[in-house]
Amino acid sequence: MKKTPSDELLIGAHTSIAGGVHNALLEGAAIGATTVQIFTSNQRQWKGKPIPEKELELWHETLQSTGLKKIMSHDSYLINLGSPDADGLHKSRKTFKEEIERCHKLKITYLNFHPGAALGADEMACLNTISESLLECESLLEKGSTRVLLEATAGQGTSVGHRFEHLAYVIDKVHKKIPIGVCIDTCHIFAAGYDIRTKAGWEKVLKEFDEIVGLKHLYAFHLNDSMKPLGSRRDRHASLGKGEIGIECFKVLMNHPDLRELPKYLETPVTEIWKDEIQLLRDLAK
Ligand SMILES: [Zn+2]
Ligand SMILES: [Zn+2]
Repeated sequence: MKKTPSDELLIGAHTSIAGGVHNALLEGAAIGATTVQIFTSNQRQWKGKPIPEKELELWHETLQSTGLKKIMSHDSYLINLGSPDADGLHKSRKTFKEEIERCHKLKITYLNFHPGAALGADEMACLNTISESLLECESLLEKGSTRVLLEATAGQGTSVGHRFEHLAYVIDKVHKKIPIGVCIDTCHIFAAGYDIRTKAGWEKVLKEFDEIVGLKHLYAFHLNDSMKPLGSRRDRHASLGKGEIGIECFKVLMNHPDLRELPKYLETPVTEIWKDEIQLLRDLAK
């Protein structure tokens, strides 16, 4: 495969939609991003507003003018597709469907979501409920081209998705019916116990991912260093090279033949240095 030049590699950050969704694209372009991740509505409210027609027009124009590609949406933090609580599950499924509808309107490539939290129930029940929730979206997903991505988690609290086996379980149940895949967050898998600090570490983790989930199901990365140590199961993002993971991890990611071309989105805490972090990643990719 021909190597994409580093300035064309898809690297971005989670930019803000304040003042209109198109502003997230403009912010991306201003920091040298070639893609971005956004929330398509207020991530802390159940009630998601449909995006006004005028704003949609502006979005599509800006998408053209900036040339950003493979836009990712991150779902609302309130959604738990594996909830054991009937009311919580009902609200989550309804809100998730609205997320998909907004993604279709915006022609968003990936809808990244936290798999779910078992709360009082067991992990297996949670994984089954998540799979059923996703299958409920089959006909809706057919109406557009958005792919839903299970985000690998740190395993905080009762959240599932911190073992590759969890991701594989859900994918096996649904991938023949709906467009699905995985987004690996470097901070999360490190906190979950996967050691990606070195090239040898990455090779071992990727081999495991390939055997359990299948590399063909991997579509994207969230790039974050980790404030908390390996296996801590705590999700605290750090700027690249400023945490427990270190810069070597990102150098491997930017050069590995299977990973280099996949879109990557920063969720690092110091937004003022995103521009520098994006440039750093491009420099590492040379
Ligand atoms: Zn997330
Ligand atoms: Zn996180």
